Amino acid sequence: MSTQDILEIKTLLASPKRIAIIPHKNPDGDAIGSTLGLLNYLLKLNHNALVIAPNDYPDFLKWLPNENSILKYDTQQEECDTFITEADIIFTLDFNALHRTGNMEAILKASEAIKIMIDHHQQPDDYAKYMFSDVTMSSTCEMVYHFFAKLDTLESIDKDIATCLYVGIMTDTGSFRFRSTTSTTHRIIADLIDKGADNTQIHNNVYDTNSYNRLQLLGCALSNLNVIPEYRAAYITLSQDELQKLEYKKGDTEGFVNYALSLDNIVLAAIFIEDKNQGIIKISLRSKGDFSVNELSRQHFNGGGHTNAAGGKSDTDLPSTVEKFISILPHYSNALNNE
Ligand code: 5GP
Ligand code: MN
Repeated sequence: MSTQDILEIKTLLASPKRIAIIPHKNPDGDAIGSTLGLLNYLLKLNHNALVIAPNDYPDFLKWLPNENSILKYDTQQEECDTFITEADIIFTLDFNALHRTGNMEAILKASEAIKIMIDHHQQPDDYAKYMFSDVTMSSTCEMVYHFFAKLDTLESIDKDIATCLYVGIMTDTGSFRFRSTTSTTHRIIADLIDKGADNTQIHNNVYDTNSYNRLQLLGCALSNLNVIPEYRAAYITLSQDELQKLEYKKGDTEGFVNYALSLDNIVLAAIFIEDKNQGIIKISLRSKGDFSVNELSRQHFNGGGHTNAAGGKSDTDLPSTVEKFISILPHYSNALNNE
């Protein structure tokens, strides 16, 4: 994003606008934190702004400031279409290609609003007039903070905005431990605490609201854990039956894949989650070091993401998806064993 871009965006935001803010489908902590952080900022500047999510998100995010104003496209399409059609500006946050919004892709493509992308995923598509894309960033929330800095408006960050941004940085960095976490990330977190983010309360709200069933589901996932030591890989499966038995709710499987990656000497981890309604297996991939699960997912599982965290899907059933995963490992033998 050039100085000229910043000047133009400053001019755009100098008078009240109608602004739609869009996260990706199945939004996570960073997607909801960044869109709500930006929403609360734009509302303070008297814009008519609204977050429109493609679909629902986990309950552990349903306490964030102004969360209850979020519209969901899959259940409120008419209202969403009207707002998007009449929008002057559309911010797209935490994704790199319009198809990541699922059924919202068509209306977003058709819209003539000025699009502004803020995102940290690899290989971004070129759909936005203004692109703030940086794959070295820990999170989109960290980028929204930098965006406010570029606009010379860091002093606008209040407790609500700080809380939203803290959540996304915390969740996307695995609580400040992934490689993307820098000293700058920590300085930003310190500033967000100074501006009112209650770090202990936020950790409690996001991580310490487990249901009994979720912990049982974790037990089930761990008992389904398989290790392939010769390729330093480990994977977990969860079938629809297992999910149903434990009354699975959105977000319940968040973080499970990290247990597979926490095994000694493992550099590649996967979780395969059956979704019979959509007829797909949802895949989450994680890695250590330079082994790129973004590349692996793009090549074999119709997805993408970051070097060390990516997602994808498969249209075949659970056993054949796992079989495919195992069958491709020999191609990566050198990379996995030299990591
Ligand atoms: P997760 O495994 O937690 O769902 O996602 C890990 C990372 O990969 C996130 O940054 C997420 O946005 C991205 N991601 C997840 N699923 C997909 C997908 O189907 N396609 C692409 N391109 N990225 C994905
Ligand atoms: Mn993110």
